[in-house]
Amino acid sequence: MPGPPRFSTRRFLTRRFSLGLFARPSRQVASAAVAIAVATLMLFAHSQWQAYDLSLTRAERDTRNAAYLLAEHAARTFDGIHETLRAVARLRADAAKGIYRSQASLHVNLKTLRGGSQILRDVGWYDAYGELVATSRTLDPPRISVAREETFLGPRAQATQALHVSPPRRASAEAPWRIDVSLRLEGPDGAFAGIAAGTLDPGEFARVYRSLDMGPGGRTTLYRHDGIVLARAPHLAPPLAASGADSALFREHLPRAPFGTYHAPAPFDGTEEIASYAVAPGVGQGLMVSVGVSRAHALADFWRRLWIDTALTAVVLAVLALGTGLLVTNLRRRERLQAELAGATAAANAARAEAERANSAKSVFLAHMSHELRTPLNAVIGFGQMLELDLPRNLTDGQREYAGLIVDSGHHLLDLVNDVLDLAGVESGRLSLSMEEVPIRELLLGVSDIMAPIAAKAEVSLRVAPVTTTAAVRADAVRLRQVVINLVSNAIKYNRPGGSVTLSAVPRGDGCLRLGVEDTGQGIEPERQAELFVPFRRLGAEYTSVEGTGLGLALTRRFVEAMGGSIGFTSTLGEGSLFWIELPTALPVRGTPWKTGSAAPADDLGRRAFANGL
Ligand code: ADP
Repeated sequence: MPGPPRFSTRRFLTRRFSLGLFARPSRQVASAAVAIAVATLMLFAHSQWQAYDLSLTRAERDTRNAAYLLAEHAARTFDGIHETLRAVARLRADAAKGIYRSQASLHVNLKTLRGGSQILRDVGWYDAYGELVATSRTLDPPRISVAREETFLGPRAQATQALHVSPPRRASAEAPWRIDVSLRLEGPDGAFAGIAAGTLDPGEFARVYRSLDMGPGGRTTLYRHDGIVLARAPHLAPPLAASGADSALFREHLPRAPFGTYHAPAPFDGTEEIASYAVAPGVGQGLMVSVGVSRAHALADFWRRLWIDTALTAVVLAVLALGTGLLVTNLRRRERLQAELAGATAAANAARAEAERANSAKSVFLAHMSHELRTPLNAVIGFGQMLELDLPRNLTDGQREYAGLIVDSGHHLLDLVNDVLDLAGVESGRLSLSMEEVPIRELLLGVSDIMAPIAAKAEVSLRVAPVTTTAAVRADAVRLRQVVINLVSNAIKYNRPGGSVTLSAVPRGDGCLRLGVEDTGQGIEPERQAELFVPFRRLGAEYTSVEGTGLGLALTRRFVEAMGGSIGFTSTLGEGSLFWIELPTALPVRGTPWKTGSAAPADDLGRRAFANGL
């Protein structure tokens, strides 16, 4: 047993995208709009992502450049301080040698050394017990001991000539901050002999840091190697002398590299920040500068632009959606109408085909019936005529008259059958024409001759207007004569005693010849004119004594059209009608004599005209 149909990706795509998506214009437009919207959104996302990335990259670059610059600044500053303290150490060595005779000249030298440094507030030295020996501040050094302070204990513990930088401190909450710097002094034997010391204002660094504008979210910090904050700007965070040793900077980044850039919560307050750090090169124990900007500030511009761009994009997409919506609605309406129209056309075609089928079946039926009727009718007419002749002369006058009636009625019935047969033949497409050149003059005169006795009987004068052309038309001679006889027959039948019928032939400019049959009869009511040429419609004549079948004009039109011509009429009620036919002309026929009144034998057509009531 066949299982359920297997899913085929190809079939699915073909149906979904080839037929479904692109078949109808409305879908095409909708798909294009969706594609444009998606492309716009992707473009928007891409450009925003780039702007976002650029903001972060710019912040990273700015902080990195600032960190390098300030690390260099710190290195130079502390190099200068180191140098000054080394000069103090030399001064102290000279003083120990007794080079300075007075305390005053020593003091002057100390002041000169301090003055050489832009950042040191004062310089001096302490003995091996931490007692102040000399200071640039006063000539007479006050009794001060730093024996318990880091600035003394550090150099004493470390047998190096490295510059020792102490954490910032201040005497009271209102007193200014100070950083003590010191250098180990040694005696000639290398034993610890005290410290050369100085103090500096961390605010000097802050001033430099502030001058490097890092924006409202920027902050710069000078750290000691162990995480102690030596200086910072802006003033508020982080606190001086606090330790950032536990921060990501000291635990993760610094051990990895002496400089770098990172995104992490800032030490002390945890603000998400983009920061760069750089170790100051060449400074003994190690100092490090960190420059950071808060992520929020770095991205502030981006967010502001994002809102504007989003609003603009939303407006563009809304306009696109609105326009597409209107267009698609319109297209859908049109497609619906087209579908309805196609449906209606198909239904109409089916109905027409059905009608044509029925019509042709009817025509075939009629043709068969007519054939079947003609044979017995001919027998009726033939035997009627024999009776009428009454060769044995044994019929009474009345019986001979009845025989005549049988023959007339038989002929009438045969004409009807012939007309029906002709009509059925035309409608079922079985009409065969033998097209030839038909000289017009002869045609009209012939018809006139045939119809003259009938016209005379109806007291209607029949005449042929002078025909000026020698042209011939291309037509089937027999059918054309039948057509003209039909028209003349009608012109006589629906005329009045004393009226006239005029046949004419006028060449037209467009290669056609117009044959006219004009009468002075009763005319045709305007409201019934549409029924002319419709089979079996007699426009009220069926209630009169004028005999007819209602088939003449219908046949006439079909014959004319089958011969490539056209038929028309004008009619005025009470005044008369003009029926005309137009046929394409053949080459002019030369040498045809124009004989007026030439007699033509009354043939079957003429007889049929008689049979039609005249
Ligand atoms: P019929 O056999 O009735 O003459 P036709 O098809 O020839 O059938 O004509 C249809 C009808 O058109 C006629 O019955 C008549 O009412 C009208 N008709 C035709 N020719 C004329 C005419 N020349 N003048 C007035 N009425 C006419």
